[in-house]
Amino acid sequence: MRPHAVIEPRFGRPGLASFAVGIVDDDIVRVREATNLRDVVSQYVQLKRVGRRWVGLCPFHAEKTASFNVNEENGLFKCFGCGKGGDAITFVREMEHLDFVDAVEWLAAKASITLRYTEKREDEGRKRRGRLIDAMEKAVEWYHQRLLTGDDAGRARGYVRSRGLDGDVVRTYRIGWAPEGWDTLARALRLPDDVLVDTGLGFLNRRGGQTDAFRGRLLFPIFDVNGDPVAFGGRVLPGGEGPKYKNSAGNTIYDKSKVLYGLNWAKADVVNADEVVVCEGYTDVIGFGVAGVPTAVATCGTALTIDHLRTLRKFARRVVLAFDADAAGQDAAARFYQWERELDLDVAVAALPSGVDPGDLAHSDPQRLHAAIAEAVPFLGFRVERVLTAAPLSSPEGRAKAAEAALTVIGEHPSELVRDQYVMQVADRCRIDPEQLRARLRSPGAKRVAVDRAVPTASRVWLPETPEVNALLALIHEPDVVDPLLMIDTKLTASMFADLKNLAAFNALASTASLHEAIEVADAGASELLLQLSVAELDGEPEDAVAGLVREAARRQIRRVAASETPIPPLVHQALNDINEPNTKRTAITELLTWLGSQSEESV
Ligand code: ZN
Repeated sequence: MRPHAVIEPRFGRPGLASFAVGIVDDDIVRVREATNLRDVVSQYVQLKRVGRRWVGLCPFHAEKTASFNVNEENGLFKCFGCGKGGDAITFVREMEHLDFVDAVEWLAAKASITLRYTEKREDEGRKRRGRLIDAMEKAVEWYHQRLLTGDDAGRARGYVRSRGLDGDVVRTYRIGWAPEGWDTLARALRLPDDVLVDTGLGFLNRRGGQTDAFRGRLLFPIFDVNGDPVAFGGRVLPGGEGPKYKNSAGNTIYDKSKVLYGLNWAKADVVNADEVVVCEGYTDVIGFGVAGVPTAVATCGTALTIDHLRTLRKFARRVVLAFDADAAGQDAAARFYQWERELDLDVAVAALPSGVDPGDLAHSDPQRLHAAIAEAVPFLGFRVERVLTAAPLSSPEGRAKAAEAALTVIGEHPSELVRDQYVMQVADRCRIDPEQLRARLRSPGAKRVAVDRAVPTASRVWLPETPEVNALLALIHEPDVVDPLLMIDTKLTASMFADLKNLAAFNALASTASLHEAIEVADAGASELLLQLSVAELDGEPEDAVAGLVREAARRQIRRVAASETPIPPLVHQALNDINEPNTKRTAITELLTWLGSQSEESV
């Protein structure tokens, strides 16, 4: 190994390390100066003048007395409750769930400032996204006009009316109609092949001809939190072919596990109410809006994930589920309790009449819909009530049975204090001594679900939860996210796998174009591992999986370097801290990779 003096200059080499910074410094300063922080904050928080400051309820944590302070003159904010603080860019990043560059662009757009970029690659990435969003915007408008005026859209218009959605609603939500033809949109928009494919608007058939992805479907455009169109949800008309709903596949502009339908419209109201209503379908969200509940969002054809809730937690502390959450079973319950604790949020359930969609109730009985949201109860309370109302409480035997059933449900809650509150309720309703119920709950026979640990996905059971395995999972299942981070230098990435089987699996992936090929070329052990990985699911963020791998590799390298008594650059230690923070994770990953790269070059 050469002396450490060569390490530091290499560590700062341009390219990888500066990847995340793309806007010219002067322009960032211009944006800061042109922005009035009070105006920005006021869009989310009601501010009152106190002396020279502006004070309000913190949007980042739940509080009843205002500890969130804004200094209009220097453009900085600070919350004395949760400690969050910073400038307008920090604020927008936190509120809008944006990265640094996105946040500056968000503010620049408001201030009508045209930004210049330093990093060509970054600039190109943004241009590319811009092209895809532009194409999506054109498609949204084209489909929408087709529904409003198309000769072939009569039946679709009739269906929309029959669901109680009038012209105003259709225009507000920009609902559209995808005609039956196989390339009607493609011929109308004349998009380049790559844009058509990468937006998910279409694909190329075997002869290379452009083909529409959506045909003969009513389309609900899905916007990201900033209002950029990123996907469509398509519904067949009654009697039509194929599955009832078809949604855009995930792609570079659309992350299904994070995007929530309706959040772009709802976010301001959600912040004001500190509450968000989560329902299951596009028409439910629209129904809530029509009924005067502007705080509803929906997942887009996927189950509710912790990533969805992380997104929502930025806007509100209380989540009201407007679907039959109990039907999802015990695993779902354990997950909800875990999320409540992990994200410090309250999950409540709206008592909707069973078998009726909120979307339909909005038209038949909007008062009932309002009441269901206003009277939503905590998830556990909802479940206990359901058990008790189903039981015949008039007889002693019935009451004993009901108490048993209720205890099973109560036993799943992780907090003893909460459990005890419900024990007393049940004791009262079933006329049983609470002490007896408590003893029963403590007895080994009582069913308790281990909610302290994450509920393992069945298919994950045989796979060890190591950083290397997680990284391989992410590489296989989220290549769009992981490839740009890890596959830039495959030799370097390979050096990060200490386990030989994992290494062989990675090498197979890196040297082939598809997972199938990789399974074919890998040796028996690695091939089997790849197969297992291919059917398993990644828990958590792909970026976190990458971070875990890089962190482990960096720590190993530090131990090696320390053994040779060579000092470690302070930036490396900083990056190891930063890699745990959402805002600095990406930069820290590239910084550590750059350092590891310089290390492996030296050891050759
Ligand atoms: Zn706070």
